[in-house]
Amino acid sequence: MSPVPFHQRDGWIWLDGVLTPWAEAKLHVLSHALHYGSAVFEGERAYGGAIFKSTEHSERLRRSAELLDFEIPYNVAEIDAAKDLVLAKNGLVDGYVRPIAWRGSEMMGVSAQANTIHLAIAAWEWPSYFNPEERLKGIRIDMARYRRPDPATAPCHSKAAGLYMICTISKHEAERKGYADALMLDWQGRVAECTGANVFFTRDGAIHTPMADCFLDGITRRTVIDLAKRRGFEVIERRILPEELATFNECFITGTAAEVTPVSEIARHKYQPGNITRTLMEDYMAEVQPKARAA
Ligand code: PMP
Repeated sequence: MSPVPFHQRDGWIWLDGVLTPWAEAKLHVLSHALHYGSAVFEGERAYGGAIFKSTEHSERLRRSAELLDFEIPYNVAEIDAAKDLVLAKNGLVDGYVRPIAWRGSEMMGVSAQANTIHLAIAAWEWPSYFNPEERLKGIRIDMARYRRPDPATAPCHSKAAGLYMICTISKHEAERKGYADALMLDWQGRVAECTGANVFFTRDGAIHTPMADCFLDGITRRTVIDLAKRRGFEVIERRILPEELATFNECFITGTAAEVTPVSEIARHKYQPGNITRTLMEDYMAEVQPKARAA
């Protein structure tokens, strides 16, 4: 049975301050965001009724918009409250939360000085992978055709919808070849990140991850770095060349949706999900539980 398309689901979507029946949460085809990519969004997860690092996500959403030269007409506390309202109204305890802000339709051209800024928040069920043993085998990743853009070319620290165009193309190509995802290099040809997650490697007991200087510094990435340091692992943020892919033992990716997902292969390089990956998977799942946060 194919899943119900997103526009046909039941529930409530918060749209410009109003809880709106899911099917009625629409925008016009002449919205600036659709034509010129002027939209920013977030991906968040609620665990046990509470969104993990909700405020950090709301702050990033507002910052992403500022990088695209617009201001979301709601402050961080209002966005946090709206997300909680959406979860409650939809009866979700564990779920994925998707706020999106975009330029409306007052002006239709590159310039959009007078356009209204809209904000919508939806939430839906997105289960975790609950079979850790199956997951521990790891996913297979291909090399992406596209690179992350030079910070002088695009607002690379914004979670902007337009920056995902090259991610979708790269992920489609990888999936057609039987891979789960694609690893993107940066504009200088160094290892950057996957199409919707950051990447980590291990070698000789230390953890290596690319410096987030031209791509999204994931909230999960920062959480996992903290958890690893708490465990006493050495974490080295540095420039990683693709030639080094053959020298690592373990590899995993991190993201709100991916959580901590082991990797068994990147192109022809094989990895053995092991002790460090397993430890951080478990530590991350413990960390996101509301009781861990309250403690
Ligand atoms: N990079 C990209 C391109 C992403 O889409 C995501 C997911 N938001 C991440 C990294 C990881 O970010 P986070 O841990 O904040 O979800």
